[in-house]
Amino acid sequence: MGRLQAIYDKMPICIQNLMTSVSGYQKCRQRYGKAYYERRQFLKTFDELSLEEKLNYQREKLWEFIRFTKKNSTFYQKLYKDINIDELSTIEDLKKLPIVDKEMLRANIEEVYTIPKNLAVESHTGGTTGKSLTVRGIKEDMMYRMATLDHFKARFGFENRKMKRATFNGKHIVPPGQKKKVFWRYNRACKQMIYSSFHITEENLSAYVKSLNSFKPAAIDGFFTSMCDVASFIERNNIKLAFKPIAIFPTSETVTESGRELLTRVFGCEVYDQYASSEGAPFITECVEHRLHTELSTGVFEHFTDGSDEVLVTSFVTRGTPLIRYKIGDCVAFSNNTEICKCGRHDTYITGIQGRRLDYLYTADGAKINAGNVSNIFKNLPNVIIRSQAIQKKLGEITILLEVDKKLYKPKYDEIIRDEFKHKFGNDTEIILRHVDCIPREKSGKFKFIVNEVNTNN
Ligand SMILES: [Zn+2]
Repeated sequence: MGRLQAIYDKMPICIQNLMTSVSGYQKCRQRYGKAYYERRQFLKTFDELSLEEKLNYQREKLWEFIRFTKKNSTFYQKLYKDINIDELSTIEDLKKLPIVDKEMLRANIEEVYTIPKNLAVESHTGGTTGKSLTVRGIKEDMMYRMATLDHFKARFGFENRKMKRATFNGKHIVPPGQKKKVFWRYNRACKQMIYSSFHITEENLSAYVKSLNSFKPAAIDGFFTSMCDVASFIERNNIKLAFKPIAIFPTSETVTESGRELLTRVFGCEVYDQYASSEGAPFITECVEHRLHTELSTGVFEHFTDGSDEVLVTSFVTRGTPLIRYKIGDCVAFSNNTEICKCGRHDTYITGIQGRRLDYLYTADGAKINAGNVSNIFKNLPNVIIRSQAIQKKLGEITILLEVDKKLYKPKYDEIIRDEFKHKFGNDTEIILRHVDCIPREKSGKFKFIVNEVNTNN
């Protein structure tokens, strides 16, 4: 990518659009082959099955996947050497297999792979923990994942690649030093306008909104915080939108209630969240009733019983780098509610996805306050905060960076924020408020609402 990026950076914008589309067409060939279309068809019929039929399918796929893994992965062969897989057949039996964590996977990755590099689709996962991992995938599995994602969107009436989509992501589409205020490139292959997350500033936002208004996307997806920045700007400046998307599909970042309300208010459409990590976890998707369900066709989630809500995932579509009882580091809260959801899907409810473990702050005595709760602190303010970031380096002290709308922000708001924080974190935590012009994004383009640097050594 390095050399291609260097060539790209020197080209005029129209050629960059062309290069974006060419790369889009190449990706499409990888993602939308025969297996993709067959899977889309399968998922439509799968949705119509009874819960019992779905669970049967899940159980069969589970053991088929584990037998495949034991046969093809040296790491799992060694791990399961004293276990007779053929005697196991239920979802409960899964508990008889050992748990795998990130460090085990990283340290043995060459032995975990079931396929050579030249046959694999590689993806890299970075992450909050600082560990990075190259995951090898089988082409067909990649198509299955795309089909699941597109099927999820199609449930609400959005058909990927047939309808226009605006995406806010971390791609470096705008070369450094570009003078023109054009922070987007068009990927014709997917009818997708890609917007840079790195250039969203108060100064540039009106250009973003103008572009959206002329593009008129049928859906918006990508980084949640970027979409919220755009929405907040539209609202604060009373800008009229020339389009109404079918839905908004955030990815990668924690969806907060206040942000969700803002997007719904401004764009006049609903927000539907989904979860699937880059390592290839099974899917959790939000339904039309705004409840979260596991997608039983993609894998198994297990509650990890150590008191936290951390989950173990077993993901059927990770045959290249199999994940079985993998401690992925995310927290998922399962509900005991067994009533059938009005959407017609009757699989397990999820009451919340906490995202990455570091998505929380500590109180002075070490209790965790999660990102959702922290973002609620700003709920009682009018729409005057453009962005905020809470940084914790040690217990008993939290620094809040605030990027505010200077025209609307009043000094008394500082006191309100301080007061709200005190109510959540107690008097033993010192709250330092700092007003800044711009809070930088991560290298990946994601915006971190919470930076927790306590205990980063584990
Ligand atoms: Zn539902």
